[in-house]
Amino acid sequence: MREWLLGCFKSPAINYDIPEDCYKKLLVIAIFLAAVVKFYVALRDYFLNFSCLFPNDFLFFLLLGISYIFVKKDKLETAVNIFVLAVLFTLTYCLLAGHYSSLFWFPLIPLMAGIFFNFRKLLIYAYIPIVTNTLIFLLKFPHLPEIKTLTSNSPIVLGFEAFVAYITFVIAITIYRMFIDAYRNGLKKLLEVDVLTTALTRRALFSQLDKIKERGIPYSLIMFDIDHFKSVNDTFGHQTGDRILKEVSVLVRKNLRKGDIIGRYGGEEFLIALPGAKKSEATIVAEKIRRLIEQNDFSIPKKITVSLGVADSVEAEDVEKLIKLVDDRLYTAKKMGRNRVINM
Ligand code: GH3
Ligand code: MG
Ligand code: MG
Repeated sequence: MREWLLGCFKSPAINYDIPEDCYKKLLVIAIFLAAVVKFYVALRDYFLNFSCLFPNDFLFFLLLGISYIFVKKDKLETAVNIFVLAVLFTLTYCLLAGHYSSLFWFPLIPLMAGIFFNFRKLLIYAYIPIVTNTLIFLLKFPHLPEIKTLTSNSPIVLGFEAFVAYITFVIAITIYRMFIDAYRNGLKKLLEVDVLTTALTRRALFSQLDKIKERGIPYSLIMFDIDHFKSVNDTFGHQTGDRILKEVSVLVRKNLRKGDIIGRYGGEEFLIALPGAKKSEATIVAEKIRRLIEQNDFSIPKKITVSLGVADSVEAEDVEKLIKLVDDRLYTAKKMGRNRVINM
Protein backbone atom coordinates (compact mmCIF):
# COMPACT_ATOMS: atom_id res chain seq x y z
CA MET A 1 0.00 0.00 0.00
CA ARG A 2 2.81 2.40 0.96
CA GLU A 3 4.68 1.57 -2.23
CA TRP A 4 1.45 1.92 -4.20
CA LEU A 5 0.97 5.45 -2.89
CA LEU A 6 4.63 6.46 -3.10
CA GLY A 7 4.49 5.55 -6.78
CA CYS A 8 2.50 8.77 -7.30
CA PHE A 9 5.40 10.91 -6.20
CA LYS A 10 8.10 9.27 -8.28
CA SER A 11 7.67 11.42 -11.34
CA PRO A 12 9.35 10.56 -14.62
CA ALA A 13 12.23 12.79 -15.74
CA ILE A 14 10.05 15.03 -17.87
CA ASN A 15 6.45 15.24 -16.91
CA TYR A 16 3.91 17.94 -17.57
CA ASP A 17 0.80 15.85 -16.98
CA ILE A 18 -0.51 13.95 -14.01
CA PRO A 19 1.09 10.59 -14.79
CA GLU A 20 -1.63 8.20 -15.94
CA ASP A 21 -0.79 5.74 -13.21
CA CYS A 22 -1.06 8.41 -10.52
CA TYR A 23 -4.35 9.68 -11.97
CA LYS A 24 -5.69 6.14 -11.74
CA LYS A 25 -4.68 5.81 -8.11
CA LEU A 26 -6.30 9.14 -7.31
CA LEU A 27 -9.51 7.88 -8.88
CA VAL A 28 -9.42 4.59 -6.98
CA ILE A 29 -8.92 6.51 -3.73
CA ALA A 30 -11.81 8.87 -4.55
CA ILE A 31 -14.15 5.98 -5.37
CA PHE A 32 -13.13 4.12 -2.24
CA LEU A 33 -13.64 7.19 -0.02
CA ALA A 34 -17.04 7.89 -1.57
CA ALA A 35 -18.08 4.29 -0.88
CA VAL A 36 -16.88 4.48 2.76
CA VAL A 37 -18.69 7.79 3.39
CA LYS A 38 -21.88 6.53 1.81
CA PHE A 39 -21.71 3.28 3.74
CA TYR A 40 -21.23 5.19 6.99
CA VAL A 41 -24.22 7.44 6.27
CA ALA A 42 -26.39 4.44 5.38
CA LEU A 43 -25.39 2.60 8.58
CA ARG A 44 -25.96 5.70 10.69
CA ASP A 45 -29.42 6.17 9.21
CA TYR A 46 -30.18 2.51 9.79
CA PHE A 47 -29.28 2.62 13.49
CA LEU A 48 -30.73 6.02 14.21
CA ASN A 49 -33.90 5.81 12.17
CA PHE A 50 -34.21 2.06 11.85
CA SER A 51 -34.76 2.59 8.21
CA CYS A 52 -33.38 0.15 5.70
CA LEU A 53 -31.12 0.82 2.77
CA PHE A 54 -32.85 2.80 0.06
CA PRO A 55 -32.79 1.86 -3.59
CA ASN A 56 -30.83 5.05 -4.23
CA ASP A 57 -28.04 3.77 -1.98
CA PHE A 58 -27.82 0.61 -4.06
CA LEU A 59 -27.80 2.66 -7.24
CA PHE A 60 -24.97 4.78 -5.86
CA PHE A 61 -22.87 1.71 -5.05
CA LEU A 62 -23.71 0.24 -8.44
CA LEU A 63 -22.51 3.42 -10.20
CA LEU A 64 -19.32 3.40 -8.10
CA GLY A 65 -18.80 -0.23 -9.12
CA ILE A 66 -19.27 0.60 -12.80
CA SER A 67 -16.89 3.54 -12.46
CA TYR A 68 -14.32 1.20 -10.88
CA ILE A 69 -14.70 -1.26 -13.76
CA PHE A 70 -13.91 1.56 -16.22
CA VAL A 71 -10.84 2.47 -14.16
CA LYS A 72 -9.67 -1.12 -14.49
CA LYS A 73 -10.31 -0.95 -18.23
CA ASP A 74 -8.19 2.22 -18.43
CA LYS A 75 -11.16 4.25 -19.63
CA LEU A 76 -10.41 6.94 -17.10
CA GLU A 77 -12.45 9.76 -18.62
CA THR A 78 -15.60 7.59 -18.60
CA ALA A 79 -14.83 6.42 -15.06
CA VAL A 80 -14.63 10.02 -13.80
CA ASN A 81 -17.83 11.00 -15.60
CA ILE A 82 -19.74 8.14 -13.96
CA PHE A 83 -18.17 8.85 -10.59
CA VAL A 84 -19.07 12.54 -10.64
CA LEU A 85 -22.58 11.74 -11.87
CA ALA A 86 -23.00 9.18 -9.05
CA VAL A 87 -22.17 11.84 -6.48
CA LEU A 88 -24.40 14.34 -8.23
CA PHE A 89 -27.24 11.83 -8.31
CA THR A 90 -27.06 10.89 -4.67
CA LEU A 91 -26.82 14.50 -3.46
CA THR A 92 -29.77 15.53 -5.62
CA TYR A 93 -31.76 12.59 -4.31
CA CYS A 94 -31.03 13.67 -0.71
CA LEU A 95 -32.13 17.19 -1.51
CA LEU A 96 -35.37 15.94 -3.08
CA ALA A 97 -35.97 13.84 0.04
CA GLY A 98 -35.75 17.02 2.10
CA HIS A 99 -32.23 16.67 3.55
CA TYR A 100 -31.19 20.27 3.06
CA SER A 101 -27.83 19.68 4.66
CA SER A 102 -26.89 17.84 1.47
CA LEU A 103 -26.70 21.27 -0.21
CA PHE A 104 -23.41 21.87 1.54
CA TRP A 105 -21.92 18.74 -0.01
CA PHE A 106 -22.51 19.89 -3.59
CA PRO A 107 -19.11 21.67 -3.77
CA LEU A 108 -17.65 18.16 -3.97
CA ILE A 109 -18.68 18.14 -7.62
CA PRO A 110 -16.59 21.10 -8.86
CA LEU A 111 -13.81 19.91 -6.58
CA MET A 112 -13.68 16.51 -8.27
CA ALA A 113 -14.16 17.99 -11.72
CA GLY A 114 -11.38 20.49 -10.95
CA ILE A 115 -9.00 17.69 -10.01
CA PHE A 116 -9.77 15.39 -12.90
CA PHE A 117 -10.86 17.61 -15.78
CA ASN A 118 -9.68 20.70 -17.58
CA PHE A 119 -11.11 24.13 -17.07
CA ARG A 120 -13.95 23.82 -19.61
CA LYS A 121 -15.33 20.56 -18.35
CA LEU A 122 -15.06 21.80 -14.78
CA LEU A 123 -17.37 24.69 -15.68
CA ILE A 124 -19.89 22.34 -17.31
CA TYR A 125 -20.01 20.17 -14.20
CA ALA A 126 -20.19 23.21 -11.96
CA TYR A 127 -23.35 24.38 -13.72
CA ILE A 128 -25.26 21.09 -13.32
CA PRO A 129 -25.85 21.48 -9.55
CA ILE A 130 -26.77 25.13 -9.99
CA VAL A 131 -29.46 24.19 -12.49
CA THR A 132 -30.73 21.11 -10.61
CA ASN A 133 -30.79 22.88 -7.25
CA THR A 134 -32.59 25.88 -8.68
CA LEU A 135 -35.18 23.60 -10.29
CA ILE A 136 -35.71 21.69 -7.05
CA PHE A 137 -36.17 24.92 -5.13
CA LEU A 138 -38.56 26.31 -7.69
CA LEU A 139 -40.60 23.09 -7.51
CA LYS A 140 -40.58 22.89 -3.72
CA PHE A 141 -40.96 26.55 -2.94
CA PRO A 142 -43.00 28.11 -5.67
CA HIS A 143 -43.93 30.96 -3.31
CA LEU A 144 -41.30 32.70 -1.27
CA PRO A 145 -42.20 32.79 2.46
CA GLU A 146 -42.35 36.15 4.19
CA ILE A 147 -38.98 37.42 5.36
CA LYS A 148 -40.27 37.82 8.96
CA THR A 149 -41.07 34.12 9.26
CA LEU A 150 -37.59 33.01 8.20
CA THR A 151 -35.07 31.51 10.63
CA SER A 152 -31.52 30.45 9.97
CA ASN A 153 -32.82 26.89 9.62
CA SER A 154 -35.40 27.69 6.97
CA PRO A 155 -34.71 25.68 3.85
CA ILE A 156 -34.77 28.83 1.76
CA VAL A 157 -32.11 30.46 3.94
CA LEU A 158 -30.03 27.28 4.00
CA GLY A 159 -30.43 27.04 0.25
CA PHE A 160 -29.32 30.62 -0.28
CA GLU A 161 -26.28 30.25 1.97
CA ALA A 162 -25.34 26.98 0.31
CA PHE A 163 -25.70 28.65 -3.07
CA VAL A 164 -23.36 31.50 -2.07
CA ALA A 165 -20.89 28.97 -0.65
CA TYR A 166 -21.12 26.93 -3.83
CA ILE A 167 -20.49 29.91 -6.12
CA THR A 168 -17.52 31.00 -3.99
CA PHE A 169 -16.12 27.51 -4.16
CA VAL A 170 -16.61 27.24 -7.91
CA ILE A 171 -14.82 30.56 -8.46
CA ALA A 172 -11.93 29.48 -6.24
CA ILE A 173 -11.50 26.12 -7.89
CA THR A 174 -11.91 27.63 -11.37
CA ILE A 175 -9.08 30.07 -10.69
CA TYR A 176 -6.97 27.20 -9.40
CA ARG A 177 -7.76 25.08 -12.48
CA MET A 178 -7.01 28.00 -14.85
CA PHE A 179 -3.68 28.45 -13.11
CA ILE A 180 -2.84 24.75 -13.36
CA ASP A 181 -3.92 24.58 -17.03
CA ALA A 182 -1.90 27.66 -17.94
CA TYR A 183 1.15 26.29 -16.14
CA ARG A 184 0.73 22.90 -17.76
CA ASN A 185 0.28 24.38 -21.23
CA GLY A 186 3.29 26.64 -20.78
CA LEU A 187 5.44 23.70 -19.75
CA LYS A 188 4.05 21.59 -22.56
CA LYS A 189 4.83 24.29 -25.12
CA LEU A 190 8.35 24.58 -23.79
CA LEU A 191 8.86 20.87 -24.23
CA GLU A 192 7.15 20.57 -27.59
CA VAL A 193 7.99 23.75 -29.48
CA ASP A 194 11.55 24.73 -30.28
CA VAL A 195 12.10 28.23 -28.90
CA LEU A 196 14.26 29.50 -31.77
CA THR A 197 12.62 28.03 -34.86
CA THR A 198 9.06 27.42 -33.54
CA ALA A 199 9.21 23.99 -35.20
CA LEU A 200 8.47 20.93 -33.04
CA THR A 201 11.21 19.74 -30.73
CA ARG A 202 12.76 16.33 -31.32
CA ARG A 203 10.71 14.92 -28.47
CA ALA A 204 7.41 16.18 -29.90
CA LEU A 205 8.46 15.21 -33.42
CA PHE A 206 9.04 11.60 -32.41
CA SER A 207 5.80 11.40 -30.49
CA GLN A 208 3.96 12.72 -33.57
CA LEU A 209 5.73 10.17 -35.74
CA ASP A 210 4.60 7.42 -33.36
CA LYS A 211 1.04 8.69 -33.64
CA ILE A 212 1.19 8.65 -37.45
CA LYS A 213 2.57 5.13 -37.31
CA GLU A 214 -0.24 4.04 -34.94
CA ARG A 215 -2.83 5.35 -37.39
CA GLY A 216 -1.43 2.83 -39.84
CA ILE A 217 -1.60 5.18 -42.83
CA PRO A 218 1.26 5.51 -45.34
CA TYR A 219 3.40 8.62 -44.93
CA SER A 220 6.54 10.22 -46.32
CA LEU A 221 9.49 11.92 -44.68
CA ILE A 222 11.61 14.79 -45.94
CA MET A 223 14.84 15.67 -44.18
CA PHE A 224 16.63 18.87 -45.07
CA ASP A 225 19.73 20.67 -43.95
CA ILE A 226 20.89 24.21 -44.72
CA ASP A 227 23.91 24.26 -47.02
CA HIS A 228 27.21 25.71 -45.76
CA PHE A 229 25.48 27.15 -42.75
CA LYS A 230 28.70 27.30 -40.81
CA SER A 231 30.05 29.83 -43.27
CA VAL A 232 26.84 31.90 -42.90
CA ASN A 233 27.53 32.05 -39.18
CA ASP A 234 31.20 32.79 -39.73
CA THR A 235 30.56 35.54 -42.28
CA PHE A 236 27.46 37.26 -40.91
CA GLY A 237 27.54 36.35 -37.25
CA HIS A 238 25.58 33.95 -35.09
CA GLN A 239 22.64 36.30 -34.61
CA THR A 240 22.06 36.51 -38.34
CA GLY A 241 22.44 32.73 -38.47
CA ASP A 242 19.72 32.40 -35.83
CA ARG A 243 17.42 34.73 -37.75
CA ILE A 244 17.88 32.81 -40.99
CA LEU A 245 17.29 29.52 -39.22
CA LYS A 246 14.01 30.83 -37.91
CA GLU A 247 12.98 32.31 -41.25
CA VAL A 248 13.70 29.05 -43.05
CA SER A 249 11.62 27.10 -40.55
CA VAL A 250 8.67 29.52 -40.68
CA LEU A 251 8.80 29.74 -44.47
CA VAL A 252 8.69 25.96 -44.86
CA ARG A 253 5.92 25.51 -42.32
CA LYS A 254 3.76 28.14 -43.97
CA ASN A 255 3.97 26.17 -47.19
CA LEU A 256 3.00 22.79 -45.73
CA ARG A 257 -0.50 21.36 -45.50
CA LYS A 258 -2.46 21.37 -42.26
CA GLY A 259 -1.78 17.79 -41.17
CA ASP A 260 1.93 17.94 -42.04
CA ILE A 261 4.53 18.10 -39.30
CA ILE A 262 7.84 19.87 -39.15
CA GLY A 263 10.36 19.40 -36.37
CA ARG A 264 13.89 20.51 -35.67
CA TYR A 265 15.88 17.32 -35.93
CA GLY A 266 19.30 18.82 -35.17
CA GLY A 267 21.10 22.18 -35.31
CA GLU A 268 20.07 23.31 -38.81
CA GLU A 269 18.46 20.07 -39.85
CA PHE A 270 14.69 19.63 -40.07
CA LEU A 271 12.45 16.64 -40.53
CA ILE A 272 9.04 16.89 -42.19
CA ALA A 273 6.38 14.19 -42.01
CA LEU A 274 3.64 14.13 -44.63
CA PRO A 275 0.86 11.76 -43.52
CA GLY A 276 -0.94 10.15 -46.43
CA ALA A 277 1.62 11.30 -49.01
CA LYS A 278 3.33 8.97 -51.48
CA LYS A 279 6.98 9.46 -52.38
CA SER A 280 6.12 11.11 -55.70
CA GLU A 281 4.00 13.70 -53.85
CA ALA A 282 6.62 14.22 -51.16
CA THR A 283 9.24 14.75 -53.85
CA ILE A 284 7.14 17.53 -55.34
CA VAL A 285 6.81 19.12 -51.89
CA ALA A 286 10.57 18.81 -51.34
CA GLU A 287 11.33 20.40 -54.70
CA LYS A 288 8.91 23.23 -53.87
CA ILE A 289 10.70 23.84 -50.56
CA ARG A 290 14.09 23.81 -52.26
CA ARG A 291 12.99 26.41 -54.78
CA LEU A 292 11.19 28.51 -52.19
CA ILE A 293 14.31 28.85 -50.06
CA GLU A 294 16.60 29.40 -53.00
CA GLN A 295 14.37 32.25 -54.19
CA ASN A 296 13.67 33.80 -50.80
CA ASP A 297 15.37 37.06 -49.86
CA PHE A 298 17.08 36.57 -46.50
CA SER A 299 18.56 40.10 -46.58
CA ILE A 300 22.17 38.94 -46.79
CA PRO A 301 24.48 39.10 -49.83
CA LYS A 302 24.52 35.30 -50.12
CA LYS A 303 22.09 32.71 -51.43
CA ILE A 304 20.68 30.35 -48.83
CA THR A 305 20.01 26.85 -50.13
CA VAL A 306 19.05 23.52 -48.65
CA SER A 307 19.65 19.88 -49.51
CA LEU A 308 16.83 17.40 -49.07
CA GLY A 309 16.30 13.65 -48.74
CA VAL A 310 12.90 12.04 -49.34
CA ALA A 311 11.57 8.56 -48.51
CA ASP A 312 8.20 6.97 -47.88
CA SER A 313 6.98 4.47 -45.31
CA VAL A 314 6.77 1.66 -47.86
CA GLU A 315 10.55 1.66 -48.01
CA ALA A 316 11.24 0.86 -44.35
CA GLU A 317 9.45 -1.14 -41.68
CA ASP A 318 9.94 1.31 -38.81
CA VAL A 319 10.46 5.00 -38.17
CA GLU A 320 14.14 4.71 -37.23
CA LYS A 321 15.01 2.90 -40.46
CA LEU A 322 13.05 5.43 -42.50
CA ILE A 323 14.89 8.31 -40.82
CA LYS A 324 18.17 6.58 -41.57
CA LEU A 325 17.09 6.34 -45.19
CA VAL A 326 16.22 10.06 -45.57
CA ASP A 327 19.41 10.96 -43.72
CA ASP A 328 21.47 8.88 -46.18
CA ARG A 329 19.71 10.54 -49.12
CA LEU A 330 20.32 13.96 -47.64
CA TYR A 331 23.99 13.05 -47.37
CA THR A 332 23.97 11.96 -51.02
CA ALA A 333 22.39 15.32 -51.98
CA LYS A 334 25.24 17.09 -50.17
CA LYS A 335 27.86 14.95 -51.89
CA MET A 336 26.32 15.57 -55.29
CA GLY A 337 26.73 19.32 -54.92
CA ARG A 338 23.95 20.49 -52.53
CA ASN A 339 20.77 22.49 -53.29
CA ARG A 340 18.96 19.41 -54.58
CA VAL A 341 16.40 16.73 -53.74
CA ILE A 342 17.34 13.04 -53.63
CA ASN A 343 14.64 10.40 -53.30
CA MET A 344 16.43 7.16 -54.09
P1 GH3 B 1 26.72 21.46 -45.09
O1 GH3 B 1 26.32 22.07 -46.35
O2 GH3 B 1 27.61 20.29 -45.28
O3 GH3 B 1 25.54 21.12 -44.23
O4 GH3 B 1 27.60 22.53 -44.32
P2 GH3 B 1 27.27 23.15 -42.92
O5 GH3 B 1 28.29 24.22 -42.65
O6 GH3 B 1 25.86 23.58 -42.85
O7 GH3 B 1 27.40 21.87 -42.03
P3 GH3 B 1 27.74 21.57 -40.55
O8 GH3 B 1 26.83 20.52 -40.05
O9 GH3 B 1 29.22 21.27 -40.44
O10 GH3 B 1 27.46 22.89 -39.73
C1 GH3 B 1 26.24 23.21 -39.22
C2 GH3 B 1 26.36 24.55 -38.58
O11 GH3 B 1 25.11 24.99 -38.14
C3 GH3 B 1 27.27 24.54 -37.39
C4 GH3 B 1 26.57 25.39 -36.37
O12 GH3 B 1 27.33 26.49 -35.99
C5 GH3 B 1 25.34 25.88 -37.07
N1 GH3 B 1 24.20 25.86 -36.18
C6 GH3 B 1 23.58 24.80 -35.63
N2 GH3 B 1 22.58 25.20 -34.82
C7 GH3 B 1 22.56 26.56 -34.88
C8 GH3 B 1 21.76 27.56 -34.26
O13 GH3 B 1 20.84 27.29 -33.47
N3 GH3 B 1 22.01 28.86 -34.56
C9 GH3 B 1 23.02 29.19 -35.42
N4 GH3 B 1 23.21 30.48 -35.66
N5 GH3 B 1 23.79 28.27 -35.99
C10 GH3 B 1 23.59 26.98 -35.75
MG1 MG C 1 24.29 22.24 -43.04
MG1 MG D 1 23.86 19.87 -40.28
